Amino acid sequence: MNNSENRVRVRIAPSPTGPPHVGTAYIALFDYVFATQRGGDFVLRIEDTDRQRSTRESEEAILDALRWLGLRWDEGPDIGGPHGPYRQSERGDIYREHAQRLLDSGAVYRCFCSPERLAELRGGNRRGPGAGYDRRCRELSEDQIRRNLDAAMPYTLRLKAPLDGETAFEDGLRGRISVRNDQVEDLILLKSDGLPTYHLANVVDDHLMEITHVVRAEEWISSTPKHILIYRSFGWTPPEFIHMPLLRNKDKTKISKRKNPTSLDWYREQGFLPEAMLNFLGLMGWSLSGEREKFSLQEMIDSFSWDSVKTTGPVFDLEKLKWLNGEYIRELSSEQILQRLIQGHYTTHLNEPAEKLLLIIQLLQQRIKSLGEFDESANFFFEREHYPAEDLIPKKQGPDFPAVALAAARDALEPLSDWSAGAIQQTMERLAENREWKRGALYMPVRVAVTCRKVSTPLFETMEILGRQECLQRFEEALHKAASLEDS
Ligand code: GLU
Repeated sequence: MNNSENRVRVRIAPSPTGPPHVGTAYIALFDYVFATQRGGDFVLRIEDTDRQRSTRESEEAILDALRWLGLRWDEGPDIGGPHGPYRQSERGDIYREHAQRLLDSGAVYRCFCSPERLAELRGGNRRGPGAGYDRRCRELSEDQIRRNLDAAMPYTLRLKAPLDGETAFEDGLRGRISVRNDQVEDLILLKSDGLPTYHLANVVDDHLMEITHVVRAEEWISSTPKHILIYRSFGWTPPEFIHMPLLRNKDKTKISKRKNPTSLDWYREQGFLPEAMLNFLGLMGWSLSGEREKFSLQEMIDSFSWDSVKTTGPVFDLEKLKWLNGEYIRELSSEQILQRLIQGHYTTHLNEPAEKLLLIIQLLQQRIKSLGEFDESANFFFEREHYPAEDLIPKKQGPDFPAVALAAARDALEPLSDWSAGAIQQTMERLAENREWKRGALYMPVRVAVTCRKVSTPLFETMEILGRQECLQRFEEALHKAASLEDS
C-alpha cells in the first residue's frame, strides 16, 4: 500500500444542538491524539441535519470550546479543506444524489406510509424480530408506485435490509459485534422533505471524506450494523469502527447535566485549565503506563495505543479534575497565571499594579484549584470585607482578649522600620513571648483583623503585601469592633 492509502483520517462530528459537551471533547481528544501520532488528519464536521434543533450559535460555541482546549483540526467548516463543505446542511445535493443512486440500483425503496400509520406501528409496542416498520411498501408494484407518485403522495426512501443472516463488524476495542438482520429495521435514509437522516449523511460523509477510523461513543454501537448495510448498498468498504466507553456519573449512569456539569463552557468559566481538562479526559478510558495520572498531551501522543484503552465505563469525577487542575496551576509561573487570569477574564482587578497581583498569586497558587476561585480568594486584599466581631475571639479566650491583643500588636508593629514578612513575624513572636500568650491566640485576632477572614493566606506574607498603612487601618477598625465585644 502506498502512503496516501495508509494515511489515518479521523473526524469529530458534533450536532450543534446545545452547549459544547464534554463528551465531544473526549472523543475529539482521542481523535486528535491518534491522528497526530500517525501523522494523519483530524476533520471537524458539523452534523446539522436536524434543522429544528441545530443553531449556528451552538456550532460557534463547539468550535470555540475545542479551540480553547487546543484540539486543532485540519479540515472543518471554518477553515475549509479538500472534502468540503463540512456542514451537512450545505451538502443536501450530495445526499439526494446518493439516495437516487441507491434508488436506481434497487437498494432502497419508496415508502408512502403516512406518519399516522407509522405512529400506530410504533405504538403497538412490538419488540423482537420484525419490530419497527412492517415493510409494507417494500413489495409495492410498479403500478402502485406510479399511481402514488402521480397523486403526489409524499414518500421516504428506506433501505432494503437483508431479511436473514447477520451483519457483523470488528470493533477496534471490543472485537466482533453482530446483529441478526431480522432485527434491523428498513431504515429511512431520505425523509419526505428530501433531507437525509443522520444515518445516510453520516455514512456518505465518512466515505467521501475518506475517514479511515470512526471513533465515537459506545451509544452508537447499535447504529453501526445499519451503517455497514448502507456502506454495502453503495458497494463501499466501511472504515474501522472504534466505540469509546461512555463517560459516566459516579452512580455509573451515562453522564448527565443533572449530576455533573456537561458543558465545556462551564469548565472554562470556572477556570479549569485546558491542559488539565485534556489530561483528565485522557484518563477516561486510558492511562499512561506505571499508573501515572498526570501527563501532557504530548506524552499521550507519544505512548497512545488503542490496545491500552479500557472499555469499562470511566467515571467523570469532578473532585479528581479539581485536584488535577490544582496541580497544573501550581506548575505555572505567577506571570503565566496572571496572563491567564486576564485573558480568561477571571479577574476584575485589572487596574491593580501587576507587582501586587503577582505577589498575591504567589500566595494563592498553592491553594486555589481553579482560576475562577482567584477573585473570591483574593478579594480581601482589595477591599475590607465585613466580618462579625465574634470572629476576633480565639478559642479559649474571653471577649476582652481581642482588644488587648490587637492594641499590643499594633503598638509593636507600628514602629517597625522594615515592613517585611520576616520582621513582622519576629515582632509578633516576641510579643507573644513577652505577654506569655500562645502564638495561635495572638495570631487569630490579628489574622481576622487584617484579612477579615478566619482562614487566609499565610499571615505575615499577606501583611507585607497589604502594607503597613492598610494593616494599621484594619487594626483600628478591628479595635472598634473589639470594643463592642467588651461591652456586651
Ligand atoms: N452527530 C453525531 C453526534 O452528535 C455523530 C455520531 C458519530 O460520530 O457518528 O454524536
